[in-house]
Amino acid sequence: MDTHQQLNANSLDAYWMPFTSNRSFKTAPQIVTGAQGMYYSMSDGHKLLDGIAGLWCVNAGHGHPKIVEAIQKQAAQLDFASSFGFGHPLAFEYANRLTSIAPQGLDHVFFTNSGSEATDTALKLALAYHHARGQGQRQRIIGRQRGYHGVGFGGLSAAGMGPHKKQFGMLLPGAAHMPHTHDPVRNAFSPGQPAHGAEIADALDQMLQTFDPSTVAAVIVEPVAGSTGVLIPPVGYLERLRQICTQNGILLIFDEVVTGFGRLGRPFAADRFDVTPDLIAIAKGMTNGAVPMGGVIASNAVHEALMQNAASGAVEFSHGYTYSGHPLASAAALATLDVYVSEGMFEHAASIEPFWQERAHALKRVAGVADIRNLGLLAGIELGEDVAGGKAMAKKVYDYCFERGVLVRPVANTIVLSPPLVISETEIDMLFSTIAMSLRSL
Ligand code: PMP
Repeated sequence: MDTHQQLNANSLDAYWMPFTSNRSFKTAPQIVTGAQGMYYSMSDGHKLLDGIAGLWCVNAGHGHPKIVEAIQKQAAQLDFASSFGFGHPLAFEYANRLTSIAPQGLDHVFFTNSGSEATDTALKLALAYHHARGQGQRQRIIGRQRGYHGVGFGGLSAAGMGPHKKQFGMLLPGAAHMPHTHDPVRNAFSPGQPAHGAEIADALDQMLQTFDPSTVAAVIVEPVAGSTGVLIPPVGYLERLRQICTQNGILLIFDEVVTGFGRLGRPFAADRFDVTPDLIAIAKGMTNGAVPMGGVIASNAVHEALMQNAASGAVEFSHGYTYSGHPLASAAALATLDVYVSEGMFEHAASIEPFWQERAHALKRVAGVADIRNLGLLAGIELGEDVAGGKAMAKKVYDYCFERGVLVRPVANTIVLSPPLVISETEIDMLFSTIAMSLRSL
């Protein structure tokens, strides 16, 4: 049976697909059957240039032979070993490799299986840190409007994307939200980091006057907000957040699930912006998307507080997942990091960024484009005169590009781009020229 016959033989109904309009999808299913390098192969035989690195994760390109080989080898050697009071060598080896490229002073990593688990773990670490220091009253979590931190109760409570929250009622009590950093008036069509808006961080100071800073545990932000349409922090903004958190004894968490592992041309956004948080949530590019894995890289101060507080023999942090530090994930992550380093992928991303920026901003001349934002190998092309009109256009751009062999991601009124870091100038041209053609055709 070929793939199409198989699909017809199987009802599409049994699989309840995530973050998908199941009823629309199942009337015209788009099924992928393979992937190599920059391209997906679809069940009808056509190829798709992957403009979004799977889902912001396949940074080294699809099916890298060294990553494939590492997973196969590990599966044959050790399929599973619990991390509860037991260990295997690769998880330790990877933790050492990872912390050696992490910002200075962040020398410990706690493994999870996804970005959602990573943000929830970071929030729980913040609560446990304050508890260990006799400040258990620090319970409040502050996120940001339009933030995305996955789908767990903690991350979702801290997040600020309305459509993801409204089906679920109240979520965690006490979560509050700073304003987002999008300033379409002063910063429209800014290439790279926008100049205006460092003072938006002062809203945190104002919130602390209302809340009493000694009740706040952590502030969590994506250094670049991805899922809401790529919002780049204005120059000076993250530095100011860091300062306010430090002054008030509040932990700063960077959710680097998207920005980690070279997306901004450096290992982490913390390096790019030269701002060091207390905790970094990671996932996605960690294993190049090949095996689920996430984690939290923690500062020595957070680690020390928990280690020192517990009685000898006690569990210092009562948290973890059956699959934390899974052997296959550890093998995939180690091979992925090797590939990133040995093939200079972060450097390639940095060196091709000016070309990416130039091609992205060339779309400014195309009718219907309302704003263009970019940093590293990320871009957001906002469309339409209003959100509803822009949303309809984004869907049409997606369809047009898909039919012509290019995969982009529409989020509300914005086309989001986040290709594998190995993208070439020719492929960048293909991506932006197909988007331009689709807009001109509308
Ligand atoms: N944080 C951010 C910034 C993300 O973009 C995502 C996923 N898009 C997550 C957390 C959640 O990751 P996961 O889907 O692996 O749970």
